[in-house]
Amino acid sequence: MIKAQIPAIKALLDTPRNIVIVPHKNPDGDAMGSTLGLYHYLKLYNHNAVVIAPNDYPDFLKWLPGDDSVVKFEGQSEESKTLIENADLIFTLDFNALHRAGNDLSEVLEKSDAIKLMIDHHQQPDDYAKYMYSDVTMSSTCEMVYNFIDMLGDAEKINSTIATCLYVGIMTDTGSFRFPATTSKTHAVIGHLIDKGAENSEIHNSIYDTNSYNRLQLLGRALQNLKVVPELRTAYITLSQAELDEFNFKKGDTEGFVNYALSVKGIIFAAIFIENKQENIVKISLRSKGDFSVNEFSRNHFGGGGHTNAAGGKSDLDLQATVENFISILPQYKSELSQK
Ligand code: 5GP
Ligand code: MN
Repeated sequence: MIKAQIPAIKALLDTPRNIVIVPHKNPDGDAMGSTLGLYHYLKLYNHNAVVIAPNDYPDFLKWLPGDDSVVKFEGQSEESKTLIENADLIFTLDFNALHRAGNDLSEVLEKSDAIKLMIDHHQQPDDYAKYMYSDVTMSSTCEMVYNFIDMLGDAEKINSTIATCLYVGIMTDTGSFRFPATTSKTHAVIGHLIDKGAENSEIHNSIYDTNSYNRLQLLGRALQNLKVVPELRTAYITLSQAELDEFNFKKGDTEGFVNYALSVKGIIFAAIFIENKQENIVKISLRSKGDFSVNEFSRNHFGGGGHTNAAGGKSDLDLQATVENFISILPQYKSELSQK
């Protein structure tokens, strides 16, 4: 459907506009890569574009080209509100429901009468955007931004800055090109991004080889806390606030920990429960292999969502009660989880 809308979008982008680009709260590599990739593309046409992130993101993303231009709603809310009020167009990237931008920012977005465009690969998108490019089969929003630029006839205009940003999100959302949503088309896009100047090996190092000693010690603790429920092919990790404090937790430090639980032989469902005393919640990340939908699981039990094999949610119970609740729910899925 987006293809049919391309001429209208092209016409909109024909003259320089005030454009705001928003990723989801707690932005990850795909959220920042896609918003900054689109930002640099729009800059080629002299649009007055700005990325407004709902809040801060991990240090391992702070080298991305254009990082210094990102406005953070949390801490710069007045400036953000003015930018949104004056916007002609608002792109929302890598999320499927306005509340995913965080409550305060989503209110401001809702009130705005700027034309909204969504580019996203999460399941069950809300219908808030005039122009919607939603495809749940896509590896990443970055791959979709690439397709969007391509549909606008500008794939050859991609420069090394845009290529670098888009490479980051495809790499991080595919677990370095190994998750099932990675297609030959994904690899073709990556090939083109490398041709356009994305330094693949350097990008990999900048994202993954930036461990602090504390993060590795925290990973050690997380692995010691790993529990396995073999009969339900499930494994889970807990981290309490006290443990996070002990290793001087920084945003992003627990990124990827849940994958260790999923890597246990025979396991098809993995979870990590991370206590957040400040917000008085337990943040949950869920991962699966095969058909078991953690999107559904999270929607049904933990007020979240995401994709079939990767989703998130939260719990208002304390850490121990959250885990007990999780364990008590599992038997409902016995037939799906014990299938070979
Ligand atoms: P992560 O576990 O890495 O935080 O998130 C995994 C996937 O689920 C990501 O695509 C993310 O956008 C989505 N996700 C994470 N937390 C939530 C949540 O609370 N609600 C919804 N709807 N999606 C989430
Ligand atoms: Mn994504």
